[in-house]
Amino acid sequence: MISEPTTLHADLAIIGAGLSGMSAAVFAVNRGLSTVLMGSGNSMNFASGLMDLMGVWPSSKAWDDPWAGIARVREEIPGHPYATISDDSINQAFTELMAFLKVQGLDYRRSARRNVNIITSLGTIKKSYLVPATVWKGMLAFENLSPSLIVDFSGMKLFSACQITSTLAEQWPGLSSLRLEFPNTSHLEEVYPEHLARALDVPANRKRLADLLLPHLEAQAYVGFPAVLGTMAPGETVSELETLLGRPVFEIPTPPVSVPGIRFHQALVRGLEKHERLHFVPDRVKKVTSLSDKGFSVTAGNDGRRRHIRSRGVLLCTGRFLGRGLIAERAGIREALLGLPVTQPGSRQMWHHSTLFHPKGHAVNRAGILVDSRFRPLIQSSTPYAGQLHAAGSILAHSDWTRLKCGSGVAVATAHAAVEAFEQGL
Ligand SMILES: Cc1cc2nc3c(=O)[nH]c(=O)nc-3n(C[C@H](O)[C@H](O)[C@H](O)COP(=O)(O)OP(=O)(O)OC[C@H]3O[C@@H](n4cnc5c(N)ncnc54)[C@H](O)[C@@H]3O)c2cc1C
Repeated sequence: MISEPTTLHADLAIIGAGLSGMSAAVFAVNRGLSTVLMGSGNSMNFASGLMDLMGVWPSSKAWDDPWAGIARVREEIPGHPYATISDDSINQAFTELMAFLKVQGLDYRRSARRNVNIITSLGTIKKSYLVPATVWKGMLAFENLSPSLIVDFSGMKLFSACQITSTLAEQWPGLSSLRLEFPNTSHLEEVYPEHLARALDVPANRKRLADLLLPHLEAQAYVGFPAVLGTMAPGETVSELETLLGRPVFEIPTPPVSVPGIRFHQALVRGLEKHERLHFVPDRVKKVTSLSDKGFSVTAGNDGRRRHIRSRGVLLCTGRFLGRGLIAERAGIREALLGLPVTQPGSRQMWHHSTLFHPKGHAVNRAGILVDSRFRPLIQSSTPYAGQLHAAGSILAHSDWTRLKCGSGVAVATAHAAVEAFEQGL
């Protein structure tokens, strides 16, 4: 991941280093494609680290079987990104990504055909598909209603063990809560998840924490913590705490900034850094030009550090409004880099419903780029912008991922489908 030459040559230039861009880079290097990954933001630190495939559609229906949910979405939202990807391909995308993460020491788990019930920091239950191994046992504790203790730490904002237990009390009678002072933090008014996680990378701190907790343990079968159990090797932290406490331990994801999101990002970076077929350019792309020889010229960075890339294909993974792949203006929504057509409501007044939680959602969340079955942005109903310009992730139209609970699934599955389509087009 060292960027020396002024002009780089690659098979595929991936723009945007969020989940879809990073996953696309994994799929590209796994296929032996020389790849340049460009981007400076790190949107993944804000995500929970859970990977939803398909949770809710329509608004009244939460799916235990995500594949049945996807089948319904394909029927009822024909423009949804899942509509042109087979279940096999989606499944392969997750399998390939899980294997890559495992080599980097980050374990994810899933139940092939079933969503799992995950405890949130509010004490609600959320359906997800692929979850960090450190979170998995919380699902088992909840499903068996095993007596469990939820722990939180003095000074940690937005995570209250008491709130979790009181919200779940009716459903889960054997749940209790405990607030502890995290070792060596008595002088601090506020403590932050990343700092606690780093402290728990040190075995002596795990022992201190276990010593504080042991006198409070009674008949509980499990202990649940906020997701701060180490940064680099959470599996090791969890298993050491399990030995010290004599019972299974699990994590509950916290609101952003989320340590599982950071671990996920770091594991992808660690794995990609080692690949000689990958070159990382940590700058924003300023310009993309489609060339007459069917390749692309891409320019990234500022005057002081400008980078030129010549590639056979481009994969646009620049996200929505937060990542600035899409820009919302008075006159409408536009795509920031190439001026691609954006499917959107006829006027700004139609972006939102007057009711925040309207069951039909907000039209602005369905705005985005329309693609063909090879994930190529369209400039007219069936004409792609260029033979090898592809797009993936949350920039795509009709995904409405917050409402359908399909954010990571769409990012990973479309990245996989787009890389395969690019490879087939070579
Ligand atoms: C707070 C939060 C919580 C979430 N929780 C969950 C969850 O529990 N489960 C789940 O499944 N999903 C969750 N997600 C959603 C999931 O993370 C998104 O679906 C996913 O981030 C979409 O990935 P993306 O790569 O397409 O877009 P983004 O994550 O937006 O990434 C796009 C990237 O492109 C970069 N970029 C834009 N323009 C340029 C340019 N010109 N040059 C270079 N780079 C550029 C941006 O800086 C950004 O880094 C969550 C997301 C957020 C924000």
